[in-house]
Amino acid sequence: MQVIHTDVLVIGGGMAGLTAAVRSLDRGSAVMVVEKAAAVGGSARYAGYAWTAPTHAVMDEVNPEGDPALRRALVDGFPDAIAWIRALGVACADAVPILRYGIGHQIDTNQYIEECRRRISGAGELFTGAETLALHTRDGAVAGARVRRSDGTECEIRCAATILATGGFQADTELIGKYIHPHANTMQLRSNPASTGDGLRLAESVGAATGKQCSGFYGHLVPTGVPFRDPADFVALSLYYSEHALLFNLENRRFTDETLGDHLSAMRLLDQPQARGLLVADERVYRDWVLGSYVEGAVAIDKFDLTQRRGGRCGLAETLTDFAYLPRGWGYDGTAIADRIRAANTSGAEARPALTHDSTPLDQGPYYVIETCPALTFPFHGIRIDANGRVLGAAGGTIDGLYAAGSDIGGLYDHAYAGGIAPALVFGLSAADTAAARRAA
Ligand SMILES: Cc1cc2nc3c(=O)[nH]c(=O)nc-3n(C[C@H](O)[C@H](O)[C@H](O)COP(=O)(O)OP(=O)(O)OC[C@H]3O[C@@H](n4cnc5c(N)ncnc54)[C@H](O)[C@@H]3O)c2cc1C
Repeated sequence: MQVIHTDVLVIGGGMAGLTAAVRSLDRGSAVMVVEKAAAVGGSARYAGYAWTAPTHAVMDEVNPEGDPALRRALVDGFPDAIAWIRALGVACADAVPILRYGIGHQIDTNQYIEECRRRISGAGELFTGAETLALHTRDGAVAGARVRRSDGTECEIRCAATILATGGFQADTELIGKYIHPHANTMQLRSNPASTGDGLRLAESVGAATGKQCSGFYGHLVPTGVPFRDPADFVALSLYYSEHALLFNLENRRFTDETLGDHLSAMRLLDQPQARGLLVADERVYRDWVLGSYVEGAVAIDKFDLTQRRGGRCGLAETLTDFAYLPRGWGYDGTAIADRIRAANTSGAEARPALTHDSTPLDQGPYYVIETCPALTFPFHGIRIDANGRVLGAAGGTIDGLYAAGSDIGGLYDHAYAGGIAPALVFGLSAADTAAARRAA
């Protein structure tokens, strides 16, 4: 079998892996990237904003159960990550507010991916369509991996640093049932299809710590019964405006403070009967948040019109009284829901469970109703790392020679979310820097 020697092996060529690879090249290391799909890019191809919480205080408030060291490292590392994108010559706009509590920059992720690919192809080595069969260990340290290339030949890659960046396990039904929720495998996959937990399995095979169990996932509400036709639907069908609307379960009750964000409502809906609910907006919300952009710079898409055209469960009610005509087969009591909307409109915060943000009543007909369910982008359970990107061992300490970044990592978020691109960048950069410093020592 062919044996290839390099300094850094990166497994996974999405946002985290490409970042770690190019940074490693910059630090003077020899680099090899192994990508399972036919092309690099992963879910990063569909993303538009690099963002996170602007301060430690905000991060601690929105993500109190996340790993404190990782939360801190993410906020501290974010400005350098933005400077890094710009230094590569990639378009990165000025900062704008994201999701009420975050701050971020619109970036051209496809330009970023292409620039990274170009640099790696020039100065490093890139295998696409390649499978990592096992990690190689020597004296308790990870020292490379056995890889099957796209032509079927196998090779042994020997290196001092191996960086896992396979993007999570959202495309593996067994792992999502085990680590997210027993019913989680009913969710549509809102991600690249190659992230099947290979990084997690490889890390576990050498004794890595993983977790946190049942810490939730990042995803969004989408219309029920409308399959994604292509990746453009991941954004087109996401009902981001739900934070301005009201969400009812099959018991005709609200169960969350919708104003906290669509991503949190998506997580909480998974715990509700049949994991589906009725999302109600009024004319004002439709005009301001469905026809308007939810983040500065984002293209607005009429989700109601799209749901209707694609045969999803949706309807227009001229008045709250018309909720009585909600189709029986959907399983909701329209009159009970209308009563609860009236109650929310008149009693404000009292009628809204755990309401923490200002909200305006839904009192301007017509009402736009969509039945919705959660879709899964990536899990929060994953490989535990320290703030320098080093993989932690289940038995304590770190695993020599092994690093992880991006959606492969766990513990950063727990039923909370402050960006997916940011942790890929920040921990991709720190994994590369730590590996380079170790080589130099
Ligand atoms: C529609 C959509 C919109 C999004 N918008 C945003 C946004 O605006 N802002 C934001 O912060 N986040 C956003 N995200 C999330 C963001 O894209 C991810 O958090 C980010 O891409 C994670 O980077 P990653 O490198 O960990 O994973 P990815 O970018 O998905 O890359 C993982 C790579 O690993 C490869 N891989 C998998 N298994 C193996 C293996 N065994 N061997 C080798 N390679 C393997 C995959 O093919 C893939 O190329 C969005 C996601 C989606 C789907």
